[in-house]
Amino acid sequence: MKLPAFEYACPATLSEAVALLASHDGDAKAIAGGQSLVPMLAFRVASPSLLVDLRKLPGLDQIKITEAGVHLGALVRWRDIEDDARLRRSHPLLAAAIKHVAHYQIRNRGTVGGSVAHADPAAEMPGIVVTCEATIAVTGKSGARVIAADEFFQGALTTALASDEIITEIRLPAWPAGRRFGFEEFALRRGDFAIAAAAVFYDLDAAGRAANAHVGVIGVGDRPARLPSVEAVLNGARVDADTIAKAAAATSAAVTPQDDIHASAAYRRSLVGTMVERALVAAAG
Ligand SMILES: Cc1cc2nc3c(=O)[nH]c(=O)nc-3n(C[C@H](O)[C@H](O)[C@H](O)COP(=O)(O)OP(=O)(O)OC[C@H]3O[C@@H](n4cnc5c(N)ncnc54)[C@H](O)[C@@H]3O)c2cc1C
Repeated sequence: MKLPAFEYACPATLSEAVALLASHDGDAKAIAGGQSLVPMLAFRVASPSLLVDLRKLPGLDQIKITEAGVHLGALVRWRDIEDDARLRRSHPLLAAAIKHVAHYQIRNRGTVGGSVAHADPAAEMPGIVVTCEATIAVTGKSGARVIAADEFFQGALTTALASDEIITEIRLPAWPAGRRFGFEEFALRRGDFAIAAAAVFYDLDAAGRAANAHVGVIGVGDRPARLPSVEAVLNGARVDADTIAKAAAATSAAVTPQDDIHASAAYRRSLVGTMVERALVAAAG
């Protein structure tokens, strides 16, 4: 399908890119891997007058691992995460989730910044960002700011980003040794978007009980969400079969998915409980 006509720019600096985005009265769009935007252009879901290609912006393809955590430059691709063996230790939940993203060709081009900016409710990376309480560093014409994950996602394909702002980095807090985690997803085919998925982690206190539990769900609402009622089931409890069953039931009770062409709301509600159950079994094991 032919794309609509647009102007194209490929700036070499962040300030130039921001100035270009600000120059078209909100009608310019950044393009990173193009794996979501190009289909949207083809289907006329988007028709910006200017595309600002981010690929030459220096330093945005870096993965930095420090005591503060894992910082992913916005242009880091799925494949870069998969290939970086350090991440399997420094952020095993991220590494586990990214295995489910898309197909080989798309993984070679798609970026973390593009995924977070696109804000598909069934995408893995926004789910990890919310579950892990990541922050999103952005730069626009009024300067740089850092946005908390729970403020960033505002609905399906809707974020707190202003039209002249570019995501520069996604910052995941440090991952302590010994943390328990699990990521489980159900999709119609391998590499498809999730029908439902769950990301969970918790630490163990001195008595072997769960503490600091984080439970995030994907594909069961207009944005990824943490489930405080399920986290409350886990915190202070031994993560045994009884606790896991209660957490799964609390998950299904906490979500309000919609019917769509892929699944009924009732099916998704049940499925996401099963995803949390499986993720907790993996974490406890
Ligand atoms: C067949 C198919 C299957 C897929 N399956 C999955 C899947 O299972 N899971 C999944 O998560 N994704 C999936 N994707 C999407 C894929 O992961 C995309 O790569 C990703 O969602 C967007 O990244 P991108 O770099 O390609 O962004 P682009 O397509 O270039 O841009 C997407 C949006 O983000 C904006 N944008 C991009 N970068 C920035 C930035 N740094 N700052 C501000 N705005 C920015 C653009 O303006 C645009 O609005 C699939 C895509 C296809 C085509």
